[in-house]
Amino acid sequence: MKTYRIATIPGDGIGKEVVPAGQQVLEALARCTQNFEFQFENFDWGADYYRQHGVMMPADGLAALRDKDAILFGSAGDPDVPDHITLWGLRLKICQGFDQYANVRPTRILPGIDAPLKRCTPDDLNWVIVRENSEGEYSGIGGRVHQGHPIEAATDVSILTRAGVERIMRFAFKLAQSRPRKLLTVITKSNAQRHAMVMWDEVALEISKEFPDVKWDKELVDAATARMVNRPATLDTIVATNLHADILSDLAAALAGSLGIAPTGNIDPERRYPSMFEPIHGSAFDIMGKGLANPIGTFWSVVMLLEHLGEFEAAKRVMAAVEAVTADASLHTGDLGGKATTAHVTAAVCALVERTEAAVA
Ligand code: NAD
Ligand code: MN
Repeated sequence: MKTYRIATIPGDGIGKEVVPAGQQVLEALARCTQNFEFQFENFDWGADYYRQHGVMMPADGLAALRDKDAILFGSAGDPDVPDHITLWGLRLKICQGFDQYANVRPTRILPGIDAPLKRCTPDDLNWVIVRENSEGEYSGIGGRVHQGHPIEAATDVSILTRAGVERIMRFAFKLAQSRPRKLLTVITKSNAQRHAMVMWDEVALEISKEFPDVKWDKELVDAATARMVNRPATLDTIVATNLHADILSDLAAALAGSLGIAPTGNIDPERRYPSMFEPIHGSAFDIMGKGLANPIGTFWSVVMLLEHLGEFEAAKRVMAAVEAVTADASLHTGDLGGKATTAHVTAAVCALVERTEAAVA
């Protein structure tokens, strides 16, 4: 029997509600297999920790995560702590510290979900957005001088490196190649941003030659938003810079029904470090502490975590349970127009996971 060591970091807001729910699903799964078990270690990092210690996570925090097989993360963000402190002090510290340079964000319209695009069938919207996760607009380089004076100046410098662009392009082409349509769209803005984005385009062309069987095209980021709404079926795998993909993936999640459903993996493709899985949503201040958060985004992230561990059958089993639950409108949370609570949805998914029939995907 294999033992997987999983770190759980609920963080802030509804992260504290959905991460325990995700752990419950993994525990339900472990109860019905002889193949593996999970050893969980929970880390109470986040804004509460910050209020006590002045930092979002301890200085040696990465070392405590280093030997885990995967990390399940909730959200960083608190009404009383500035967002750049919570984000940089925890989530980005882990993403950058473990060089999780590929952020993978699948989007599909799950059964039973009422998505806003009325002319779109579930088959028309089946995307994976690959977000460059280590540099670009969120490189963290910049500064402020003369604070508070009229001559105050501030910069956020976007950095793209050839090595960074090559590795994310290669990852995206490979992912596109593994999907049935073998179709990649490279998002750019090289008309206005005439240095780094031009290099981005050039590297895309170079890497494309390693993947002659992948069909690919380029789209400007602004036009891409319209294409996602008007011609969703023309897209499959999408690669974009850190900021562009951040925005496009919230749009993708909304088009597929709700921000509460969308999952993501922060992946170190070379497996030097643990990868981290999380719902794409944030702390949801408006509903936190009420038991109303949709846990589906976390459960789908758990599916990605299992796939990353190589447990494909188990992943299918959880996904089948998730789809059976979304198909039942009485198990929809408020964001989907329903009345179900986090606990209802979690219990339903756990019950299905533990029933062998759910294994047939
Ligand atoms: P948000 O995702 O927290 O909320 C946006 C809206 O979507 C809210 O109305 C919320 O109720 C709803 N929503 C989100 N997830 C839901 C779920 N699972 N179930 C039901 N409804 C859900 O985004 P925001 O308001 O822009 O950000 C709030 C805080 O979260 C900020 O501090 C922000 O910095 C942080 N944040 C963190 C992460 C992260 O750690 N990965 C990501 C995004 C935002
Ligand atoms: Mn985001």
